[in-house]
Amino acid sequence: MASRRDTPDPLVRQIAFGLTTVGLSLRADTWRTGSGRNLSPTQAGILALLAARTGPLRPSALAASLAVSLPTASDAVGTLEAKGLVRRARDLQDGRATTVHLTDEGRRAATEFESGPAFVQDAVRALSADERGTLLRALAKVMYTLGERGETPPARMCPTCVFFAPRAARQRRAAPYRCRLLDAPLAASDLRLDCSEHDPADADESQWHRWAAE
Ligand code: SF4
Repeated sequence: MASRRDTPDPLVRQIAFGLTTVGLSLRADTWRTGSGRNLSPTQAGILALLAARTGPLRPSALAASLAVSLPTASDAVGTLEAKGLVRRARDLQDGRATTVHLTDEGRRAATEFESGPAFVQDAVRALSADERGTLLRALAKVMYTLGERGETPPARMCPTCVFFAPRAARQRRAAPYRCRLLDAPLAASDLRLDCSEHDPADADESQWHRWAAE
């Protein structure tokens, strides 16, 4: 007997196809964007990740975040180091481990990748404000599900953060949530999908299910 997985709803199929196509385009564009520096997608991803984080990362964390093997991540780090874009140093917490740091030149190179390729930004700019909000919310849900299933690393997004809190009923119309760390209201369009200050909430504290159901 065919399972639901074998015969996806036509709408599910179209959206999954669209996401896959966009993903393939992005990967190809990373090659093009990085071609001036001869960077592979993995190397470009490492630069973008290090720029988005507040500190250095171990090769194992880079591998997990980019969903590649440790040898692949280590090879990419070695190439970036040879290009002067990163440097390796002893981990202060564990002298046997190493951490990967951006050099000044690496930080400059990373700005090419941080906000996504220009052609994607242009495509998103063409959406209305409502469409952008709907897309942001839908992306958060897709990323959450992929993270829950172990297909990608968990996203460091607002609704799973310990600092994400609902506001009082009279304030919710303007901005339903707030960031307790930044002490700032969060409108739907302020949602962050990858925040360097993210601190994962445990199951009891997480606002994910409340946010996702609204
Ligand atoms: S710390 Fe970052 S992820 Fe957490 S609620 Fe504030 S803005 Fe969102």
